[in-house]
Amino acid sequence: QDIKIEAKGVQVYYADNHAIKDVDVNIADKTVTAFIGPSGCGKSTFLRCLNRMNDTIDICRVEGKILLDGEDIYDPKVDPVQLRAKVGMVFQKPNPFPKSIYDNVAYGPKIHGLARNKADLDEIVEQSLRKAALWNEVKDRLNAPGTGMSGGQQQRLCIARAIATAPEVLLMDEPCSALDPIATAQVEELIDELRQSFSVVIVTHSMQQAARVSQKTAFFHLGNLVEFDDTDKIFTNP
Ligand code: ADP
Ligand code: ADP
Repeated sequence: QDIKIEAKGVQVYYADNHAIKDVDVNIADKTVTAFIGPSGCGKSTFLRCLNRMNDTIDICRVEGKILLDGEDIYDPKVDPVQLRAKVGMVFQKPNPFPKSIYDNVAYGPKIHGLARNKADLDEIVEQSLRKAALWNEVKDRLNAPGTGMSGGQQQRLCIARAIATAPEVLLMDEPCSALDPIATAQVEELIDELRQSFSVVIVTHSMQQAARVSQKTAFFHLGNLVEFDDTDKIFTNP
């Protein structure tokens, strides 16, 4: 299977707190990889390194190599904003922009120049909303505010926004933790569909969720990657 992200000898420090200790991991294409482990073990920290979201935390220092399609994402030539179009992120709490549903999804393609004209942009917005299993619910009210919907709809909108820039990898940091059980089931089903087109990494504190949605599981403990294997092997071991 194609490797999208190759992390080698990654160490992360917050000032003198050594949060990630020498982690090597490969993230495959068309695969859901779950990061699991107890609270504080470094799952979110490691996830945030994969699209340089951690750059925004000034006491955070990253060592080692992280390659996306063979290219070093920490190379000075790399623009983090461009990188985040290729490695999209969905957060725990749905955070649509205070804009219309349409504008939430159109935002990324606009700033990255992915549409030649309005018809092109309309098409990207529609396809992204379809892939996020939201189109039928919103097609008649694309000008309504994105923040006015249910939590589950808002989270699917955030997923549509993230995939609108045609990313290679989609990072999800506990995307269901703020959702009710029905919305959680919908997002889990959606994650399984997204796997057809993307490489997906999901941070979860729930082993059950990892078992339901992922094919690969990375188990973190105290900043170390202690196990990385096929999910069905990890969860059938005695
Ligand atoms: P989670 O376990 O879901 O990542 P946390 O409650 O640990 O949630 O963290 C919530 C937010 O607080 C995150 O943005 C994280 O970066 C930040 N955070 C966590 N630990 C610290 C810390 N020691 N100092 C400052 N910010 C922190
Ligand atoms: P997890 O996602 O597994 O709950 P985190 O990555 O949030 O773990 O935290 C790993 C370690 O990094 C913890 O010691 C936490 O306090 C620290 N940490 C996380 N975010 C921050 C932050 N923004 N500032 C300082 N320390 C942080």
